[in-house]
Amino acid sequence: MAASDFSSLIVAAANTIAAHADELTALDQAIGDGDHGLNMKRGFEAVRAEKDTIAAKPLPDALKAVGTKLVMTVGGASGPLFGTLFMALGKELPAAPDRAALTTALSKAIEAVSARGKSQPGQKTMLDVLQPVYEALAQGKTGSEIADVADKAADATVPMKALRGRASFLGERSIGHMDAGARSTALLVRAVAETVEDR
Ligand code: ADP
Ligand code: MG
Repeated sequence: MAASDFSSLIVAAANTIAAHADELTALDQAIGDGDHGLNMKRGFEAVRAEKDTIAAKPLPDALKAVGTKLVMTVGGASGPLFGTLFMALGKELPAAPDRAALTTALSKAIEAVSARGKSQPGQKTMLDVLQPVYEALAQGKTGSEIADVADKAADATVPMKALRGRASFLGERSIGHMDAGARSTALLVRAVAETVEDR
């Protein structure tokens, strides 16, 4: 991937997080502590600030650098989990991946997030978006189809009861609200899918 391409992925990700920070905050206020919007915005602005240095690296190193930066800057429960996602993608992907390589890498990265969070899909977290996105990728869906799958998957966390993260402290009262991390994951998936599809 050319440096300018990775740089535009960073810009697209940082832009969508910044544009939706208040929404992410509101979602986390309903069933968490209300910091998810600011956490994610801080992290992706830190990545954006170093985009030229990061994008100059080979794809695996660039992804690892994004992950490391997110771990250092996002904070909360989600920082180490998003950090793990990007670091694992960097570890698993070759420099010039095709769809098959991306699919395998995403499945390994999901396993890494799941191990780190001691969590599984079905527990009202970011994994409830990542897993259907992996399945859509494996099924050969297009970028915009995958983005729609991610949005629907985030919507599908509304009726779930949270079993991991702060929202799980609320038990039944977590039902009826979208998971903030599922929403931010869907935003990132759309940003990446649409940027890649535009090329
Ligand atoms: P905190 O919960 O520490 O305030 P954030 O608000 O930034 O951190 O992130 C909360 C999000 O992190 C949740 O909405 C959920 O998607 C995700 N999350 C929390 N714990 C886990 C976990 N154990 N496994 C997977 N995702 C998790
Ligand atoms: Mg929070």
